[in-house]
Amino acid sequence: MKITHVEAIHLRLPEVREIPDGTQDCLLVAVHTDAGITGLGEVVSCSYVARAVVESPRSAPFRHGLAHIVRGMDPMDTEGIMAAMIAGTAWYGPGGVARHTMSGVDMALWDIQGKVAGQPVRRLLRPDAVDAVPCYASVLWPDRPQGVAASARQFVEAGYRAVKYGWGPMGPDLRLDEELVAAARDALGPRVTLMVDAGRCWDVHGALARVERFAPYDIFWLEEPLHPYDTRGYGELSAASSISIAAGESVTLLEEYEQLLQIGRIHVVQPDLGRVGGITPGQRIAAMAQRTGARPVPHAFGTGVLLAASAQWTAAAAAPLTEYTRAPSPLAQQLVRHSMRFAGGELVLDDTPGLGVELDPDVLERYRVA
Ligand SMILES: [Mg+2]
Repeated sequence: MKITHVEAIHLRLPEVREIPDGTQDCLLVAVHTDAGITGLGEVVSCSYVARAVVESPRSAPFRHGLAHIVRGMDPMDTEGIMAAMIAGTAWYGPGGVARHTMSGVDMALWDIQGKVAGQPVRRLLRPDAVDAVPCYASVLWPDRPQGVAASARQFVEAGYRAVKYGWGPMGPDLRLDEELVAAARDALGPRVTLMVDAGRCWDVHGALARVERFAPYDIFWLEEPLHPYDTRGYGELSAASSISIAAGESVTLLEEYEQLLQIGRIHVVQPDLGRVGGITPGQRIAAMAQRTGARPVPHAFGTGVLLAASAQWTAAAAAPLTEYTRAPSPLAQQLVRHSMRFAGGELVLDDTPGLGVELDPDVLERYRVA
């Protein structure tokens, strides 16, 4: 089998709001083959730039996009294709948007391989992978603590067992931060797991002040309290914090994860499969995490393609848990038809081969950027 064409599928809402919500503008990748099988993947980056990384025609050695590099290669050879993409983008890689964009291709290759084998991706990763993955609802903080209760109650009624709030007004004011967390705990009740995503807004001192204030509210993890590359700061914080520290959605290269795990000593590592190069490098990060005792939980705040890849990947992990974005964007909620369903706080996976995703043609047409 050979790859005939790699297609960048860029989608954007007609009106993009000034909020930290990546589901307003998304990039999918379709890998087409001469066998008529197509795989889908997702890139979590700056979509316009990533699209150019897929499509750029060749002008000189190393000056070309991923479509040029992988055309004609065997889609079953994930390792060979990853090596070719890394070598072929050396002039503008290896990290950043070059690596983010490789994720879309790699994810699509796993989708193709599942379809060829007649197996869901999780079984290719691990024959005894689980069929239901606990997930947590993930949203931004409302603007004020008074707005938290209504949103939290909706999640409880819908059957979520874990909820994460993040970004928004959290950061500059210690008292407001505590009020937000207290409002969430109060509305969720004692039995629903609560995570807090700080949105990289503090230094070690500021983060430890929050750890102390948040301690009575039973926080499962505190996410990205520091700048993503403050590895030493993470080391200091992780050693002193009574709340588990989560990080890793922003970095991309394996050596950056090694640093975050070995020096940062974080408790939960959050690779985004749409940024780290896809499922193939994701497997390496999971193995690294095992060596330091960190729990891998994928960051997944995108369309249903990323959600499906993340669910399949974590279903093959030791302690499965995935992020389930409840962002209201139609790109997050309506673009992808899934073979999985949400029930009782879990994503229940079926045996559809590959990632089990299809794009809704109407939603695709409505939001596709020409
Ligand atoms: Mg986050």
